Amino acid sequence: MRKLAAGNWKMNGLSAQLAEVAALIAAHPQPRSEVLLCPPATLLAPMAQAAAGRIALGGQDCHPNSSGAHTGDISAAMLADAGAAFVILGHSERRADHGETDALVRAKAGAAAKAGLVAIICVGETEAQRDAGETLAVIAGQLAGSVPDAASPQTTVIAYEPVWAIGTGRTPTLPEIAEVHADIRARLTARFGAAASGFRLLYGGSVKPSNAAAIFALPDVDGALVGGASLKAADFGAIIAALDAA
Ligand code: PEP
Repeated sequence: MRKLAAGNWKMNGLSAQLAEVAALIAAHPQPRSEVLLCPPATLLAPMAQAAAGRIALGGQDCHPNSSGAHTGDISAAMLADAGAAFVILGHSERRADHGETDALVRAKAGAAAKAGLVAIICVGETEAQRDAGETLAVIAGQLAGSVPDAASPQTTVIAYEPVWAIGTGRTPTLPEIAEVHADIRARLTARFGAAASGFRLLYGGSVKPSNAAAIFALPDVDGALVGGASLKAADFGAIIAALDAA
């Protein structure tokens, strides 16, 4: 399994920021890990040109339908056409801001697979759910509802992103991260059998150069989904180097 360092630029980035991609590629010409950037849709095509196949690109969402009267939405086929190979689905910001349900995320994952995109399906608990001791149950429900029955390691990556750790500078403890990742692997094994060992499980939530190595040393952590720290080539590069060394 090739580890995955995925960057989520969210609603950040104008064309001037493509210079960060050039800097990242120059500093890490041959990473052992797979490197992915998910810019805003407006930057996908120019970033694909800048990346010239050296890093993978992804979208941040897609519509479950392949085309039609859905103003403002973007289909998985359109992302692929613009140069994407991945798409982030069910990010907690979309679940919260756009009311996305597990069923919708599952439908989007089906559309992604149909378009040949790898879906990075996000799961994670709120702080209130963690405090109430519901973390594993919440994630089990999200996995059961969001991950299609046809999912495989080739079509699907799972990202564990505690909602309260995103963009806050706070993270779970290392044993807490390990506990959730082990539980996700066990639930995938119960559902998909031996294939479960091939699914890449990412941790996301305030990953930065200073904590990356310790997180990547944990069992069942096969990479990271990185928000803020993926915007700067120096920070994301340091995270890639930590993953390469893990
Ligand atoms: C994210 O948005 O997926 C994320 C993990 O953000 P950050 O790294 O900024 O916490």
